[in-house]
Amino acid sequence: MPTPANTPVPMRALLAGARRKQPALLKLIQQLVAVESPTDVKSAVDACVALAATHAHSLGGRVKLHRQRAFGHILEARFGPRSKTSPAGRTLLLGHLDTVWPLGTLKSMPCRIAPGPDGELRLWGPGTLDMKAGVAIAFTALEMLAEASLLNREIILLLNSEEEIGSPVSQPTTEALAAQCAAVYVLEPAQGLAYKTARKGTGSFRIDVYGTAAHAGVDFEKGVSALRELASLIETVSSFTDLKRGLTVNVGVAGGGSKTNVIPAHAWAEIDVRIARKADGPRIERKFAALKSTDKRCSLVLTGGVNRLPMERTPGTVKLYRQARALAAELGLDLPEAATGGASDGNITSALGIPTLDGMGAVGEGAHAAHESVLISQLPLRTALLAGLLAR
Ligand SMILES: [Zn+2]
Repeated sequence: MPTPANTPVPMRALLAGARRKQPALLKLIQQLVAVESPTDVKSAVDACVALAATHAHSLGGRVKLHRQRAFGHILEARFGPRSKTSPAGRTLLLGHLDTVWPLGTLKSMPCRIAPGPDGELRLWGPGTLDMKAGVAIAFTALEMLAEASLLNREIILLLNSEEEIGSPVSQPTTEALAAQCAAVYVLEPAQGLAYKTARKGTGSFRIDVYGTAAHAGVDFEKGVSALRELASLIETVSSFTDLKRGLTVNVGVAGGGSKTNVIPAHAWAEIDVRIARKADGPRIERKFAALKSTDKRCSLVLTGGVNRLPMERTPGTVKLYRQARALAAELGLDLPEAATGGASDGNITSALGIPTLDGMGAVGEGAHAAHESVLISQLPLRTALLAGLLAR
């Protein structure tokens, strides 16, 4: 266990306060979950954004909507004293309000409180863990700090509306606001109990192979099989995997051909790439771009690339984690850290070189799955930890 830091932040008082606020926190999560917000239904996401904006306003937040055409609006809310100068004291709280769940999911997956298989009480429902509970934790931490007069620096809460499809339009806003801050706390779910200090970067590629169709019985020698060529390419790209570097290449979906008696003229594959090191981004893109067909009569079309650089475990991120661990130690908890293969908006801010700590939202299970749920007993501790970090 790390020794408790010499800090003026009263962690035990914060935890007691978070316990008192637990019923209101649960109610806020339920309100957010009740407004279903699939990424691809703008009006639905906007309704959830409006609810969050109203709540931010009621807590004294200076609310600004970054209006979007194709996706839900992006919510920016600033709390604490206005600071016009350097990012030194400013912190960004980063989250999203969209979910992967289509409208109507609540009918088959109602938001309810019930014990899980382990007997522990959970809040179930679409978007609970990923990540409406994280958003509610952030609001509650801000409310507690304001009430305890500990809101002594400017905090920006940024909630976007299309994270689940890779943040195609919010990325510039995230980058611009992160650049005004000295630290970024991401409200994504915890991994077990752990905060996340590293995430892999992601890439997706597609290969289309074109050969020549022919009758498999009559004109076999005139045909050029795109599928056979693709089989060889699948072997080649799979060999790019380098587990020691944390680099993986997965050909996840492939297809081609039309009938068993036709030499296939077209075949394709879709490929997921994960990288642990920034430098591997351009490196793997070059390797894909250099792919050639072994049969010169086939042609290739390559699309895609690396879309998220990794969130590396930088010294700045480690420093944030150590602060969190010291605060947790004051509450008798040994806070673990974890690395994950999945990407989040934390990858964006980390790639800018801004210290980023992720996984600071709720503890639970089943993000994007039917058993999505949040452990209720962990909510006060997560809230107190986030509040403690923001008060430092
Ligand atoms: Zn998420």
